[in-house]
Amino acid sequence: MDTKLVVADFEDWRQTVDEAIALLEQGEVVALPTETVYGLAADAFNAEAVAKVFEIKERPSFDPLIVHIGHKRDLEKVAMVPEELDELVDELIEAYWPGPLTLVLPKRPEVPDIVTSGLDTVAVRISAHEVMRGVSRQMPVAAPSANRFGRISPTSAQAVIEELGGKIPLVIDGGACRDGVESTIVAPAMEEKGLVLRMMRPGPIPKEDLRKFAKVVKPKKTKADHIESPGQIESHYAPTTPMIFMDKKVTFEPEEGKSYGLLSYRGEGNASLVEKHDWDAIEMMSPGKGKLAEGAVRLFYCLRALDAAGVDVIVAEAVSETGIGVAINDRLRRASVGSGK
Ligand code: AMP
Ligand code: MG
Repeated sequence: MDTKLVVADFEDWRQTVDEAIALLEQGEVVALPTETVYGLAADAFNAEAVAKVFEIKERPSFDPLIVHIGHKRDLEKVAMVPEELDELVDELIEAYWPGPLTLVLPKRPEVPDIVTSGLDTVAVRISAHEVMRGVSRQMPVAAPSANRFGRISPTSAQAVIEELGGKIPLVIDGGACRDGVESTIVAPAMEEKGLVLRMMRPGPIPKEDLRKFAKVVKPKKTKADHIESPGQIESHYAPTTPMIFMDKKVTFEPEEGKSYGLLSYRGEGNASLVEKHDWDAIEMMSPGKGKLAEGAVRLFYCLRALDAAGVDVIVAEAVSETGIGVAINDRLRRASVGSGK
């Protein structure tokens, strides 16, 4: 299959959006930009189209997709908000939509089971990217990241082509993603002690900000055969090159004859590994002044570059465990678990 690459027309969104909608209406899948990472979208109410997403990504059927809607009022088309959660959900939506916050809520029966992997909840958000938002205003779409399962998420149209070129009919190039890591996912819930937000996946909206709305707690323990928080899959975002995640417990000891590439946060400072070894390749996540948001934007780009550098091992420095740094470390940790395969 030929993959058409269309550069989004910032002057005339409608034309770009219409091109995607035409294919989606035929049950095709298309790659679309969002502010987090590029998504692989299908009509959320067309089970066969959604099945194609799983097939193309080689994604296991137990890993559910996020549904993107275009209007707040469309939430009721896909989810049912229990009365006890109504106020909390409203406050979160007011504060963060459109934006990188995904809410997990009881699903409406009309949403095909394949979208939610048979779970009775559905993950929903409104994207702040004009293309994704424009498309989902016309049609709610189910869209996971546009990469092969378990691999590095794409933050540019070029990265989508590397991942899925030849397998999908259309990629819309909406530029580099503004946030660079996947949305924060929370499940609002009423527990014995009151309202909570179960943190299913760290992302651009940090836990510190969400505490204003309700107590933020860990998700329930996952059972091997039934995953409540599939974003918690241990191995994810992985390069094919073996990778070591350097959190505080790990010391770097190079092996004779092996080549090493460093993923450094900012390339200087006491904690930095830059001067401690003669690296064969170095990528800096935040070459500016060391800003976590810049690190997040460049994270997957840098991982891809190091994976392509031909080194034997990638060594990734942990960043500070605050704000979006929690999401960066989360991705690096999982990337190292799945790496080298
Ligand atoms: P992706 O953004 O490609 O990683 O895929 C969407 C992610 O959304 C999944 O891996 C899950 O982490 C999460 N997700 C989707 N639906 C649900 C749900 N009903 N409950 C919990 N997490 C969900
Ligand atoms: Mg993904």
